[in-house]
Amino acid sequence: MKKRLLFVLLAFPGLFFLTGFLPFPKSKLGPGPVISLRVLDRTGALLREVLSDEGGRCRWVRLEDVSPHLLRATIAAEDKLFFFHRGINTLSMLRALLQNMRHGEVVSGASTITQQLVRNLYPGRRTIWAKLREAWLALRLERTLSKQEILVQYINRISYGNQAYGVEAASRLYFEKPASQLSLAEAAFLAAIPRSPTLLNPYRGLDAIKERQVDILVKMSELRFITEAERDEARAEDICLSPATERFRAPHFCDYILSQVASRERRDLSVIETTLDYELQQKIEILLSNNLTAMVGRGIGNGAVVVLDNGTGEVLSWVGSGDFFDQAHDGQVNGVLARRQPGSTLKPFTYGLALENGLTAASLIDDSPAQFRTVEGHYRPQNYDRRYHGLISLRTALACSYNIPAVAVLQAIGPDLLYRRLKSLGFEGLKHDPGYYGVGLTLGNGEVSLLELTRAYSVMARQGVYLRERPIIRLVRKDGQAAPALQREASKCIFSSQVAYIITNILADPDARTPSFGYHNPLSFPFPVAAKTGTSKDFRDNWTVGYSPRYTVGIWVGNFDGEPMHNVSGITGCGPLFKDIMLLLHKGEAELSFPEPKGIVRSAVCPLSGLNPTESCPGVVSEVFVTGTEPQGLCTYHQRKPDAVLTAAERKRESAPSRFEITFPRTGDIFKLDPVLRREHQRIKLRAALPWTEGIGKIEWWINGDKVGEAGSPYSFFWNLRPGSYTIKATVVRDGSPVESPPVKIVVLT
Ligand SMILES: [Zn+2]
Repeated sequence: MKKRLLFVLLAFPGLFFLTGFLPFPKSKLGPGPVISLRVLDRTGALLREVLSDEGGRCRWVRLEDVSPHLLRATIAAEDKLFFFHRGINTLSMLRALLQNMRHGEVVSGASTITQQLVRNLYPGRRTIWAKLREAWLALRLERTLSKQEILVQYINRISYGNQAYGVEAASRLYFEKPASQLSLAEAAFLAAIPRSPTLLNPYRGLDAIKERQVDILVKMSELRFITEAERDEARAEDICLSPATERFRAPHFCDYILSQVASRERRDLSVIETTLDYELQQKIEILLSNNLTAMVGRGIGNGAVVVLDNGTGEVLSWVGSGDFFDQAHDGQVNGVLARRQPGSTLKPFTYGLALENGLTAASLIDDSPAQFRTVEGHYRPQNYDRRYHGLISLRTALACSYNIPAVAVLQAIGPDLLYRRLKSLGFEGLKHDPGYYGVGLTLGNGEVSLLELTRAYSVMARQGVYLRERPIIRLVRKDGQAAPALQREASKCIFSSQVAYIITNILADPDARTPSFGYHNPLSFPFPVAAKTGTSKDFRDNWTVGYSPRYTVGIWVGNFDGEPMHNVSGITGCGPLFKDIMLLLHKGEAELSFPEPKGIVRSAVCPLSGLNPTESCPGVVSEVFVTGTEPQGLCTYHQRKPDAVLTAAERKRESAPSRFEITFPRTGDIFKLDPVLRREHQRIKLRAALPWTEGIGKIEWWINGDKVGEAGSPYSFFWNLRPGSYTIKATVVRDGSPVESPPVKIVVLT
């Protein structure tokens, strides 16, 4: 037994040593095809040029094409004994091995340039066994290539960060010059990066890399590669980096595009034509960054925007963060793909299912205190305004985004149904099974990405048809031929065109959504737009997603680290930005309306019961229905019944319209002006109810004794908010004599 152990102990190093003379496989060392890959926008504008490709190297250079400063700086930085060892540095290897045994893991680098090159050619996990194999291959490499040849391989293959592989690509990326013209300071700067291309990324901050550059200059002078005077001069030289924004246009989008094409495939390509509209992209980048600046102090660090063309599914704009190079706010995180809680933004899909399952836009849903059983126990949802609104129509429930009706509806149709529908809409981030989310799914307890959400809303814009978004127009190979297009999911029908139309009609109803978007309603457009906002728990995420007939726009603001924001409602969060982007998209475009599919009827209903109006109903509204689902019976509230039969809720409704009164605002209401929002959007709609249907002209609106305006039917009037205390009255002339509403007192704070 002992003998065998001894044999192994002796034989292993012997074998290791002898096989070290085997030649290194030369097939690994070819420079690879010379290509550059260009990513273009839809008009042919250059978004990014990838000048090099991992392993393959595209800008292969000879030693004489590289500044001698760079070669010396590399040796000083990585391996000062390079010209004296045989591939491995035995002493430091042994020291590293001892440390590894003590710590049980690989703790020390101690790699020669030759070993680093081997690791580059054979990437993999860094175990002790891999280290031994690396050393063995390094020995063989040294017997196959000269020192100069090894250095050529090294400087052409190593990563200098930001997808620049090899010194020539790096030199052109960071300094816009060939590697032959690098100054001493620039050479030491570049040589600093390969140690850790991520941490020492020049576009993420210069302090760390500058420190290492100075270290390298000091080592170079110690090795007598340069004089002390040269060292001090180089140390003082200002590094003039080529601006990242010019080299990284639409950076998150390009990163995504490159991630969609396998690197093996990428090597054969010369051009990727994308669907992005770079002119639009630049404008949206500026709008987002201005909005984020305006929201500083509310704890909002970042934001993201996606714009899709509804007809084709093409991605027109993709902004992943406020500033790609802002490290303090995790600017490199792609906010379009990051998964976050969606707040109320999934409610339209819940109500879409409700319409499929027997409810109509006029159906009454009870918004009263309720308790729901979930796997985690009893659950009492609350509305964002902490109030209950009694029986309300489905239209109001969705437009005002009340939580209790959404949960009640989902409870009735079954949360599994919503879960399965969201899955078929492409929400891949819902990784748990439906029981995990339960009815909370409609209130946003799952995680979704902005791309998934925007894609799902575009389904409603497309009358229920799902179309996977399309970011790439075509791929062009080096020989100029088109490469086969990437696989794209087939389109499919997710909601009927009638259901999609009704949901769109509700989301585009400016009157119905007023309470959800705040009283100042900056989301009124001169053309039809359906929109929904959402805010996740503790104000961590704030969303606005919506569509016109032509475009779907998704916006998220928040923090990548999940820090809460300070009281940002949908409107003050991304609402104004949503408006700016929608207006930008439709500048100079012909006005379109949402096409009404066959199988839709409009029917007059009593607004309180949702049933066919009687003569005693206080008014009628027109509602849209899928043909065959319009109400059949007459209003039951407004048919005279003996008082004893009326329920409390009915009695309340019964008495409500019997006198001339202001229905909004109510005495005691307090409004707070938003410091960010433009003042012209900070207004409320004064509303009055009249008990008479005939013989009425205009009503007059009075504030603090001054007449501010008059309005015919439906008698509402927009009034701009200003700080102060106000008494509001409405007056009307009835049968020749004036009638005055009871006064309403409100306060407006700054
Ligand atoms: Zn009625």
